[in-house]
Amino acid sequence: MANIPTEPIGSIPRPAYLQQAMQAYAKAEISSEDLARLFSQATRETIISLEGTGSPVISDGEQSKPSFATYPIHGALNLGAGGVTIPFEDGHTRQLPVLTSGPFRYRNFAVDYLREARKHTALPVKQAVISASAMSLLYPAAGIDSYPQSQFIADLLDQAESDIRKCLNEHAYNVQIDFTEARLALKLDPSQGLLRQFISLNNQVLDRFTADERSRIGIHTCPGGDHDSTHSADVPYSDLLPLFFQLNAGNFYLEYAGEKDKVAVLQSIRENMRPGQRVFLGVTDVLNPRIETPEEIRDLLLQAVEYIPLNQLGSTDDCGFSPFADDVSTAREIAFEKIRARVEGTKLASAKL
Ligand SMILES: [Zn+2]
Repeated sequence: MANIPTEPIGSIPRPAYLQQAMQAYAKAEISSEDLARLFSQATRETIISLEGTGSPVISDGEQSKPSFATYPIHGALNLGAGGVTIPFEDGHTRQLPVLTSGPFRYRNFAVDYLREARKHTALPVKQAVISASAMSLLYPAAGIDSYPQSQFIADLLDQAESDIRKCLNEHAYNVQIDFTEARLALKLDPSQGLLRQFISLNNQVLDRFTADERSRIGIHTCPGGDHDSTHSADVPYSDLLPLFFQLNAGNFYLEYAGEKDKVAVLQSIRENMRPGQRVFLGVTDVLNPRIETPEEIRDLLLQAVEYIPLNQLGSTDDCGFSPFADDVSTAREIAFEKIRARVEGTKLASAKL
């Protein structure tokens, strides 16, 4: 019998009481101590439910992250409105802030979320961090007079490295870099220039780690998932993967259940993955409320081993279930049921192999 590893991506929809508390805090109606207490309560409840799914590796559900992308700069004072805008298929947008002065420093590091999570569980905890490439979008196109872009990039690399290293040092089971702008980069710039620039930046961070450390570092890509809508699902994997697998990481978490032409994706993975890299295929579609059956998930994985060596395969969810704190498009219970199906389906596949 094989043992196919299975891991979540990260976020779980926040409970209603936490949503309300975050809004109340923004209006100064409750104190930061009150909010911190509720973050801790939601994290504990989420972890108990995740443990209940049988998931061998868990996360904190990102209950206290304002979003997967903006947690490092949440509350920073050297930011203004009007940064890069990300358009989604359904017409809604998310806009990043823009840096107004240097130096660039993370105000919050992901290790704080990890520490809180580890208080509530004895299971291995993975921790997601944002990519250096996403943070690079904060520097304004017009530049900053007293803070040249080269200095910004040097500071950014240091901060991104530190964000990962702190988690590894604090016993994270592994660290996942959220690189959801990879596929989007090809949509914004079909010449591949932007994607190559992003990959180079992220590799400059990865190259600061030993091979042993990199085996505990992974990269997540997806077509975006916010309010049940995507931003780059029309970009084929066969355009992305030849460059994506050039990242010097050990683990790759790929959105997959939501893909229409799965054989084409598997072929592209087979052609482009390198020895020593493991691919975690998304087997639960986070944008569709229908709960997959364990048998469907088993069959997805059995098909995948025809293309991917068994010792380089894992399973995951297509994306976080709620990457932005205010996204309530997926019910919390549905997320847990999908995870339960992923765990069960992965066991069924392992038993067949
Ligand atoms: Zn994602």
